[in-house]
Amino acid sequence: MMIHSIWKRLASIVLIVLTVGQFYPWETAAAQTAEFPQKNAWARITPAVVWCGDSGQTVTIEVHIVGRHDVAKLWVTDLGTSDIEARAELFDDGTHGDTLSGDNIFSLGDVIIPCNLHQINQSGWRNWWGFLRVQLADGSFQENNYGMVAGLVDPKYKDSFSVHDFGNGLSATAYAFFIVDDKHEVIDNYPVASVYCGTSNYQAYRKLFSVLPDNFDFALVTPGLQIVRPSDLAENVPYNVSVSNAVQHIGLSITNNSAKFGSAGRLKSVVYESFGDIQIFDHEVAHTWGAAIGKTLGLLGNDPAGHHWNMLADMQGQLGSYYFEPGGAVGHFAYNGDESWHLVSNFENEPYSPLELYMLGFIPPEEVPPVHILQSPNSSDINHITAAAYQTFSIEDIMNAEGGARIPSAADSQKDFNLAYIVTQDIPYNDSAYAYFSLASYNLMTREQPQKNNMYAPFYWATGGRGTLDTRLPVDLADPAGLPGMATPTPPATQTAMPTAAIPATPTSMPGETVAPAAPTKTTSNGPGCATAPAALTIAAVGLTLHPRRRKPRQSGLVQKK
Ligand SMILES: [Zn+2]
Repeated sequence: MMIHSIWKRLASIVLIVLTVGQFYPWETAAAQTAEFPQKNAWARITPAVVWCGDSGQTVTIEVHIVGRHDVAKLWVTDLGTSDIEARAELFDDGTHGDTLSGDNIFSLGDVIIPCNLHQINQSGWRNWWGFLRVQLADGSFQENNYGMVAGLVDPKYKDSFSVHDFGNGLSATAYAFFIVDDKHEVIDNYPVASVYCGTSNYQAYRKLFSVLPDNFDFALVTPGLQIVRPSDLAENVPYNVSVSNAVQHIGLSITNNSAKFGSAGRLKSVVYESFGDIQIFDHEVAHTWGAAIGKTLGLLGNDPAGHHWNMLADMQGQLGSYYFEPGGAVGHFAYNGDESWHLVSNFENEPYSPLELYMLGFIPPEEVPPVHILQSPNSSDINHITAAAYQTFSIEDIMNAEGGARIPSAADSQKDFNLAYIVTQDIPYNDSAYAYFSLASYNLMTREQPQKNNMYAPFYWATGGRGTLDTRLPVDLADPAGLPGMATPTPPATQTAMPTAAIPATPTSMPGETVAPAAPTKTTSNGPGCATAPAALTIAAVGLTLHPRRRKPRQSGLVQKK
């Protein structure tokens, strides 16, 4: 399947910048450390999810070196040791949990993933990241920052999620459906896998509908551990696949491929999310309805997928390509109302824009302001951007281009949606995994404001309180008590609260700071399964999987019980 790679490009640039700029006392001989290529290693952490701060729950970390035999020593960072970077050494000598000496698989058993409860946010779950460091046979050091990830969950949820066992490797909590895919029917392998769920492989949904009723508008599939693709050992990234569409005049044809998925017609689209990641869910689920509207007017970008807004347009929202301002800022244009614009940083959570809310069926056309497309913008002041010229398109122009107003109208359209959250892996789930994924699923339906420094925003918030997403499964299980935010839902964002705050002149941690201006980059193929993907396949932006180093305070004694 094709992947819109703008975020990936950003991520790799950031990672390269971080890598090149860094060196450590333990390698003082080297001026700087070369990068250990991502394609030369993959990791598996088993189990992939543990309770935060539970010293009784340990994991085994394996790093498989691929395509080379010159790695002499290997470490993983952020493991709470007293070593620099809190590194711990992994072994390929048949000790410390390593199975076989000299097989190029470095292992460390009995590892306690460092976690303090105060690090768990209000969602009840978070991720740990560790990074690879190696010493080669010639004595030189290499490192990379692509990261390996494990899930951590607040132990206060230890008894919250009862599990219903359907048999045949299928089970569910109140908020997530779990598949033990030991025959590799859903994903062809773990963790090095080609993911085709929803393009050439429909098993995840067929298994869901084999035991649960056909009352889901969306389904989300996520692996129970971090998985990487065979071609370059990079992590598989989020995407959306269209299943059916019955909405007229939004640029999409009327389609119904739901039978392939095991649905009689209700299922509208499916989303794939990376392990432990829900960050761009609002973006992905919005692909159910496009973006395809206004294509003949130039509202869409020139990325091959063609389902993201033109980066020179100012409709903002969730589906826009980003403008890379020559000074280094990255973001969406927002109209100031006086023939000038400001740039909304790509690090800012944006609710759905008025045009998107119209496309999704939440607001009538009268509430959609005109859209401008800038020509030759001058962004020397990102709070007062001017354009050599610009085009203006009213919602009437857009409706005329699409043959009329949306049917059904905002008055008659669906506002409340059900989603099935599906987890798949090839081994049984532990109780912490049941809680971790259930909380992630519950996160999708909360009515909370977006959390600070978290690029995930609940669907309800993104719709300005106009739409709801229900991830509660129709299983005969008591509703868990004490879920985050249950008692005090916060008021929804209003549409008038579009982000228009002034942007810092030099936003911190802006990835584009050293980046040359770039258009959305070439689309890549994720494998042969995509060749048969339906034409309506909509394309994901790669999530904000920017994985900079996570520095932790030095902690000793938290790892390696032996
Ligand atoms: Zn996208």
